[in-house]
Amino acid sequence: MTFTHHGPDMAFLEGTLLEMLAIPCPTGFTDGIVRYVSEHLDAMGVPHELTRRGTIRATLSGKQPSPDRAIAAHLDTIGAMVRGIKDNGRLELAPVGHWSSRFAEGSRVSLFGDHGCLRGSVLPLMASGHAFNEGVDSLPVNWDTVELRIDAKTTSRAETEALGISVGDFVAFDPLPEFTENGYISARHLDNKAGAACLLTAIKAIIESGEQLPMDLHPIFTITEETGTGSAGALPWDVSEFVGVDIAPSAPGQSTTEHAVTLCMQDSGGPYDYHLTRHLLSLCHRDEIPVRRDLFRYYHSDAESAIRSGNDTRTALVAFGTDATHGYERTHRDSLEAVTRLLTAYAFSPPIFDDDKRHDAPLENFQRQLSPDAVSGSDTVLPPLERVYAHESINGELEELKPASRKKRAKKSKS
Ligand SMILES: [Zn+2]
Repeated sequence: MTFTHHGPDMAFLEGTLLEMLAIPCPTGFTDGIVRYVSEHLDAMGVPHELTRRGTIRATLSGKQPSPDRAIAAHLDTIGAMVRGIKDNGRLELAPVGHWSSRFAEGSRVSLFGDHGCLRGSVLPLMASGHAFNEGVDSLPVNWDTVELRIDAKTTSRAETEALGISVGDFVAFDPLPEFTENGYISARHLDNKAGAACLLTAIKAIIESGEQLPMDLHPIFTITEETGTGSAGALPWDVSEFVGVDIAPSAPGQSTTEHAVTLCMQDSGGPYDYHLTRHLLSLCHRDEIPVRRDLFRYYHSDAESAIRSGNDTRTALVAFGTDATHGYERTHRDSLEAVTRLLTAYAFSPPIFDDDKRHDAPLENFQRQLSPDAVSGSDTVLPPLERVYAHESINGELEELKPASRKKRAKKSKS
């Protein structure tokens, strides 16, 4: 490994992120963002193909053509869909992806109907304090108690329909980005445009290094992560190592921060691969990349859908720390930089296991999490049951049943 880090091109990263935020792309409405990323890869000279639905599969060739590595970031975001047109002309909404209507209230949105884009606001059903007074505060929070008010002249279902609006139309929420001087980045949809921007920036760093990677690496941009099927059908190669790039929630009880990269050890899809995750940790320690380990309780990722769709691949999740995920998201430049540095270092690191080349690796070469001397158990011996039933006291022999270490300690303290 001779690659030396010059640090990621943060101006490129932030510019790319801002451009991506300009493209509305809730899950199911992702053609625009797919075109944007595809053109970016073209401009960088990265060969790639599109699946029928629009998953982008790129290739950066390495010395070892197989098995391969993949790093995946999703391009789709949470959003909403028109669920019904009400008698007053306003629209009922259903969420696209899993998120609370609490964070939708007050948002400005774009609605994509048959005649193009209309603008509007998502409001609670009691939206005026002057009209409902404290009633406003008694309204439950769920998608049935919000509605979309479109900025067009309509007070009836017929008038709304005449505007070319139908059940099933997509609704995209405005990103409201703000990049502050001191490095904070606030916006909706940092999940996962920030992750995708990190991956594109890592690709740029790899290409500009002019060095060959040790293994073929496939950057993948998926389009249905928020609904659970992101990397299904996305891996036509034999991928032995799969790294997802996504958002990490920083919240009370989480160790994630906005100033480091997070390695997720486990989420709703179960634990991530022990060896791949520790390999990534070792790269952070080697390169002094700020890193946190964390567990996410209500969280799914593209790594999970890669496994579920039948791939025998190691998986890990590299994530940027973000406050208020799937709500009013905020991260910091520090975290995006750490993610990008780690992805670049990983691309240039050797394969974790030589035997990952084989599907029939012999047992003697199989990896180890446990070495025999690393395991300790209890030395306490249960008394024989016949003595317990016979109420036969073991008091006199209790010393014999105690762990050796405790006896030793007792002796020491006496002397
Ligand atoms: Zn995500």
